[in-house]
Amino acid sequence: MSSSYQKTVLVTGGAGFLGSHLCDRLLRDGHKVISLDNYQTGSRSNLSKQILNPDLELIEADVADPFPNIKVDEIYHLACPASPPHYQESPITTLRTSLLGALNVLELSLRTEARVLLASTSEVYGDPLVHPQPESYFGNVNSFGKRACYDEGKRAAEALFHAYAGEKDVDIRIARIFNTYGPRMQPDDGRVVSNFVMEALQNQPITIYGDGSQTRSFCYVDDLVEGLVRLMASDVDTPINLGNPGEFSVTDLAAMVVAMTGSHSSVSYLPLPADDPRRRRPDISKAERLLDWRPTVSLEAGLGPTIAYFRDVVSVPSSDHQPASLQPVA
Ligand code: UDP
Repeated sequence: MSSSYQKTVLVTGGAGFLGSHLCDRLLRDGHKVISLDNYQTGSRSNLSKQILNPDLELIEADVADPFPNIKVDEIYHLACPASPPHYQESPITTLRTSLLGALNVLELSLRTEARVLLASTSEVYGDPLVHPQPESYFGNVNSFGKRACYDEGKRAAEALFHAYAGEKDVDIRIARIFNTYGPRMQPDDGRVVSNFVMEALQNQPITIYGDGSQTRSFCYVDDLVEGLVRLMASDVDTPINLGNPGEFSVTDLAAMVVAMTGSHSSVSYLPLPADDPRRRRPDISKAERLLDWRPTVSLEAGLGPTIAYFRDVVSVPSSDHQPASLQPVA
């Protein structure tokens, strides 16, 4: 789906894993793209193939600081660390990013009359008591735990978007994004796919937290980007799940990664971190109905290019990339 006229699009977190793939897509569709990133977890190298593209502008700034007054047609608000070890490093920074970042993009939308899309998260459902999770489920979230800075930050951001839509008529979109993976995840990202692939490629033990029976649903990044673009182009101004409904246990994922990499890794077990959701799977019937969107890339198909990407990363001799880990709390 490409748009018929050239827009100017701001992508906050444009140098991140998801943001950089979105920038590629928007540039391919012929738009002017402004990436705003503070490079806390994003990297300029994610945008290296676009660096000579005159339609791409890079702004180095923190989304929590007051915004430059730029005229844009659309805003994709993605900026926020999304991996538990990263967002738990400084919970105050994570909350500042979520709360002030949302406020700043909404104020910019108001000034420039841009449509604004929030990258929200399946974490708004917490450790869900309803399975799979539809958008109508209000969630089971601990406001006083290790994940609270991210979960509650995103819930407050959704509430702020809702308030600006109701009170100021800002044109909002909200994507609840489920676990997404693919090339350009940082080797030290700390999430399960990058950790397992990095460990497998280096024949280090695969570190499973808990007994590995907890489940997640993994969406390949290209599918997710397609969902975001469709949502932005739609008239759906209420939260919508974007994710792959295929559900896998962490043990299933470990076995697939070991088989596909031909690794000699053993498995080691660490305690399950506090508040780690037991099960997660999106109900995507709303996205299917209203966006005509569903993922097309199976986990096995998506792991291929992901593993190939990390193979290049580990083959760089100067690198001493290590997977990031949480300090698990039993
Ligand atoms: N996990 C694991 N080993 C790792 C990293 C994560 O077993 O090296 C588990 C983690 O405890 C969780 C699942 O994998 O149950 C997904 O973790 P991730 O951090 O990728 O995302 P989230 O928990 O935010 O969905």
